[in-house]
Amino acid sequence: HAAEPVDPPADPARDAALAVRLSPLPVEAANVRLDEAGFVIAAGNGVTDFAGFRDLARALGATPGASRVVCDAGALPRAMQVGASGTVLNADCYVAFGISGAPQHLQGIGTVEHVVAVNTDLHAAMIARADLAVVADAQAVLPALLARLGAEA
Ligand SMILES: Cc1cc2nc3c(=O)[nH]c(=O)nc-3n(C[C@H](O)[C@H](O)[C@H](O)COP(=O)(O)OP(=O)(O)OC[C@H]3O[C@@H](n4cnc5c(N)ncnc54)[C@H](O)[C@@H]3O)c2cc1C
Repeated sequence: HAAEPVDPPADPARDAALAVRLSPLPVEAANVRLDEAGFVIAAGNGVTDFAGFRDLARALGATPGASRVVCDAGALPRAMQVGASGTVLNADCYVAFGISGAPQHLQGIGTVEHVVAVNTDLHAAMIARADLAVVADAQAVLPALLARLGAEA
């Protein structure tokens, strides 16, 4: 009745099935929970091209977010809302398109290390919060970034 380690009998079919089961499933960034996402891009009231916004999120492998105004308008789902009454992020990087940077929104990105703001208003609070600011129309920057990513791919 002694307990001794034994090698299981060789079974290539079982080992192959186990390897498949243990390999991580590919994760679609759009399906990652906002509070678990490492890289988030978000659309605010300055965005009108939501198809372009979603295309860019997919191309970057970023999880999409939104300001409350955008969710209130029904342009993007409530689950995407970033901020005090939405989701507080734990991301490393956050890119805000056309978001003013209201205090309730900024509370959602308090711990984010790298913030990029795209805004037509140089004096927007989001630009003050950002490490990198692009003072331009979001509708011009979205396709330009997509084109650049396409060219690099
Ligand atoms: C109790 C309470 C809780 C709240 N909780 C939240 C919350 O959780 N999350 C949240 O987001 N808000 C929240 N809000 C709302 C918040 O106060 C702001 O109203 C909201 O964040 C503004 O959203 P926005 O920046 O997208 O829109 P706006 O304030 O309308 O700003 C739009 C920005 O886009 C810029 N812009 C305009 N056109 C362009 C363009 N073509 N290209 C680039 N930029 C452009 C403008 O310069 C401006 O900075 C809360 C408010 C209250 C009272």
